[in-house]
Amino acid sequence: MDVDVLVVGAGITGIYQLYRAREAGFSVQLLEAGDGVGGTWFWNRYPGARFDSESYTYGYLFSRELFDEWEWKEHFAEQPEIERYLNHVVDRFDLRRQIRCGTRVTSATYDESAGSWTVVADDGSEYRARFLVAATGILSVPFFPDIPGRADFGGEQHHTGRWPATPVDFAGKRVAVIGTGSSGVQLIPIVAAEAASLTVYQRTPHWCTPLNNAPITPEEQAELRADFDGMCEVLNTSAAGFLHLPHDRATFDDAADERQAFFETMWQSKGFSKLTSNYTDLLFKPAANAEWCAFIAEKIRGIVDDPDTADKLIPKDQRYGEHRPPFVTGYFEAYNRPNVSLVDLRQTPIVRMTTTGIETTDGEQPFDIVVWATGFDFGTGALTRMGIRGQGGIALEEHWAEGPTTFLGIQTAGFPNFFFPGGPHAAAGNNPRYNGDQVDFVTDTLVYVRDHGYDTIEVDPAAEERWTDMVDRWAEQPPSFGKSSYYFGTNIPGKPRRYLLNSGGRPKLFKEIARVRDTDYKAFRLSRSE
Ligand code: NAP
Repeated sequence: MDVDVLVVGAGITGIYQLYRAREAGFSVQLLEAGDGVGGTWFWNRYPGARFDSESYTYGYLFSRELFDEWEWKEHFAEQPEIERYLNHVVDRFDLRRQIRCGTRVTSATYDESAGSWTVVADDGSEYRARFLVAATGILSVPFFPDIPGRADFGGEQHHTGRWPATPVDFAGKRVAVIGTGSSGVQLIPIVAAEAASLTVYQRTPHWCTPLNNAPITPEEQAELRADFDGMCEVLNTSAAGFLHLPHDRATFDDAADERQAFFETMWQSKGFSKLTSNYTDLLFKPAANAEWCAFIAEKIRGIVDDPDTADKLIPKDQRYGEHRPPFVTGYFEAYNRPNVSLVDLRQTPIVRMTTTGIETTDGEQPFDIVVWATGFDFGTGALTRMGIRGQGGIALEEHWAEGPTTFLGIQTAGFPNFFFPGGPHAAAGNNPRYNGDQVDFVTDTLVYVRDHGYDTIEVDPAAEERWTDMVDRWAEQPPSFGKSSYYFGTNIPGKPRRYLLNSGGRPKLFKEIARVRDTDYKAFRLSRSE
């Protein structure tokens, strides 16, 4: 056996898994496809990419020293700072020598007689590990829509999720951005300020609200340090892993003017608080949701000078929270610039790409650079492309042909000694908090297996079915968060419609983990290899 634990992916989850497994006394190797660490925060280096959860709530909490010595510059850090932070963590905890970058896993095969995994990478290197932990993330495989002629375009093309390491020069260029999800709306204002012209191709407007980012003042830095324990308490127990506390009033408890005033404080509040600290019935009651949407629509009309453009930017058939809400900085304002225009693809769909530009039903427009902000094969994309073969040689992509089935979003039946924290059914909120819970549980489980003299662990199909049923059933119940978004995989042609997050949230995850412990790992089959 080369190592006890082989981790794939050096994103936030994989780095933490490497640290925890090593601290627990396992020999560990981490393989990473990128040339540097960071995972999602390595690949998504497009201008404007930044956290939309508060930096100090997104970073690691396992080390007080780390928290104290790293001063985030802004409440919502930009990608370069995030990448620096993750590199700092890797060096600070001496993890780099166990990380091999530039190594993409192409197959992972379970050896039933040995109870181990054989993993092969694209450079031909081969590893044997008792346990395989894929921390390959949920937003790792960029999605390019199948638009005819894409390969024929002669200019530059970039996807936000595979942004090049060398900066893209927009100055004096005619630029198209396709897609207005969270990535597109972060990028658009930056490009607007640099390019000769920017044309935004929007299929669906989403309910964007201000991020309200700001530098962290020295006083705030001091408060963060002074209240580290209090912050951890909130973050480690919050249902969605955010700091923002729930509100205690429903929409129509307040009179119309009080409601306006409250919505104004929400509009001015930071990031996700507009979702987590808004009126309690916002996501459940259509009339309540409509009040908040009407407020945002009025704001958009107030910011965007051209009424026709403003109207196109206002969602018409989408409740707030039905799609993952994007948070913006200067997004609506960008449309007031003379060099920026908006194409509504519902009115004039793209017909094809040409060698020089984009053709819609309204004609062709030439471009120097086309940016695809068109999202990802979310949740399962990376795992089903890694050549994972479990018991009897079954491929993971076949096992999940109808969508993922998991227990706690960490294991699937038929794939012993294989874990995927931070994968499908993992999170529904502030990702690192959920994924950290999962890594902690995976590590405790590995320790349990080792200390009880077992070699293999595999989830019982009944436990998997119970968790998966819960995920599927709860996802269809109000508030059906993410109903119109890629959270159900519907952005990928041919992908089964199946919920890809943990609809039970952290409370359900905590409860099930406690049950596993209380029942002495009854949800798993444990054995010794021959
Ligand atoms: P996304 O939310 O899936 O948005 C993709 C965009 O591309 C949508 O506007 C979509 O339109 C459009 N699109 C897809 N196919 C198209 C086609 N054939 N023609 C025209 N438009 C098309 O992807 P994303 O913006 O990359 O965001 C993905 C997730 O990454 C976010 O929801 C978030 O979880 C995460 N993210 C986080 C941050 C952060 O600050 N932490 C920043 C960026 C992203 P439709 O809406 O009509 O499908």
